Amino acid sequence: MIDTSINKHYIAIIGGSISGSEAAFTLATKGFKVVIFEMNDLPYGKIEDGLPKWHVGLRDKQEKNIDQKLNHENILYIPNVKIGRDISFEDLVKNWGFTVIIIANGAWKDRDLLIKDINKFKGKELVYQNSLLYWYNHKHEPDYKGSSIEIKDGAIVVGGGLASLDVIKLGMIELVQDVLLSKKGILVDLFEFEKKGIAAILESNNTNLQELQIKGLSLVYRRAAKDMPLKSPKDDTTENVEKAKMVSEKLLQKYLDKYLFKFIPLSIPIDIIEKDGTLKALVLQKVTIENGKIISKPGDTLTVETPMIISSIGSLPEQIEGLHYEGSWLKMEGKGNYKVYGYNNVFAIGNAVTGRGNIQESKVHGKRMTEKIIDKHLLEDDLFEDWVENLNTDLCKRVDENVEAIEAFIKIQKIMPDRIVDNILRKTKELQDKVGYTTYTDWIKSKTPIRLENLPK
Ligand SMILES: Cc1cc2nc3c(=O)[nH]c(=O)nc-3n(C[C@H](O)[C@H](O)[C@H](O)COP(=O)(O)OP(=O)(O)OC[C@H]3O[C@@H](n4cnc5c(N)ncnc54)[C@H](O)[C@@H]3O)c2cc1C
Repeated sequence: MIDTSINKHYIAIIGGSISGSEAAFTLATKGFKVVIFEMNDLPYGKIEDGLPKWHVGLRDKQEKNIDQKLNHENILYIPNVKIGRDISFEDLVKNWGFTVIIIANGAWKDRDLLIKDINKFKGKELVYQNSLLYWYNHKHEPDYKGSSIEIKDGAIVVGGGLASLDVIKLGMIELVQDVLLSKKGILVDLFEFEKKGIAAILESNNTNLQELQIKGLSLVYRRAAKDMPLKSPKDDTTENVEKAKMVSEKLLQKYLDKYLFKFIPLSIPIDIIEKDGTLKALVLQKVTIENGKIISKPGDTLTVETPMIISSIGSLPEQIEGLHYEGSWLKMEGKGNYKVYGYNNVFAIGNAVTGRGNIQESKVHGKRMTEKIIDKHLLEDDLFEDWVENLNTDLCKRVDENVEAIEAFIKIQKIMPDRIVDNILRKTKELQDKVGYTTYTDWIKSKTPIRLENLPK
């Protein structure tokens, strides 16, 4: 049971998208006060900048859902503030006064393609998924000022998950759309290409890739088609795992038939060939799968000429100074995967900690973990001890209370001292004023970009 007298607790959430909004809403409906720090104007994360823009229905539904959650009287929204860049994590812990901090910052750092020296081609012949999708989703906006990317015929996409299918589909549509217009004067819009498929569009215009002299893009995957994680098995039984593998294989075939890209399975990129500083080819190590393990024979390689590599091998959380990491991942404490190592009052949810999964999984993780934070931690003495210990003594002095007094106050009365609340509200308002934020609804209205489907044809 939640004691509603604790409704003066202020909790910070880093990232306002799928998992962050779920956490904020769960807390807000139980009377807690929440401040969301969001690095972008809009709190839509991967929905806005990751899902390719043909997912109009899914995007609009999810964004509306986030709005409904964040537009709550107990939630304050601060746009354009990146924790770790504009405000340090240490500052957040010491100088604000939040009793709990929840990290919901997703996974925005592209996993590096492990080929020596390949990153020198970054932004030219090498493009990573996150920047590709940002460009793709926003390039039609009149005030778009980001980088410009040209999909080159013969490009190779390295990947294997659902996102890499979106990436190769995007590449093929861009390529064929351009050539169809320049060579035949035929304009087909993106939504029609996506819905009907490239094969059907070309057939209905009495042409094909060969006649248009398009080589097409290839998807390089380290395992076989049936191993692609396109369908999750219902459970771990051999029967259901095999069923899921069959579905994945069929799904891939459907994509191949519809969008006409090539598939190069059982291949791991290991090297590049360049000439005069320009990428010319990708060298692949051929492998076999034995008892689920990837086996490679030295020297068994395949060299594929290509003018461009698109890496779609997944994203990792961006590291925030002040937090502990194990390799690329946030170091967590205990079981349950949500309590951040080194603090009793810092937690993590969504892609930031799961590193994978879809919208639904991220929502469920955000909600379940927040309920656990409320039930198991929010009223615990350990949490308050950490909270008080981490608070800057200057802040305590400024609010004219000593640390022990604040601790006693919050433990007994289960509310935050007014002057700490005032400190949070003042700092929040300062940041909101800086960017001209007034209300959530007005802000979203003014910052939502023009959608491709609404542009004049
Ligand atoms: C190409 C692609 C296609 C996909 N297709 C589907 C699909 O069809 N169906 C499906 O269900 N799922 C799909 N997904 C997965 C889905 O988008 C994610 O699982 C989900 O959006 C994760 O939610 P999240 O809140 O954990 O992270 P995110 O959506 O990444 O949100 C993190 C938020 O934190 C903010 N942030 C990050 N760092 C900071 C910081 N330091 N300070 C302040 N704010 C910060 C970000 O701006 C963002 O708003 C796809 C993903 C990709 C990349």
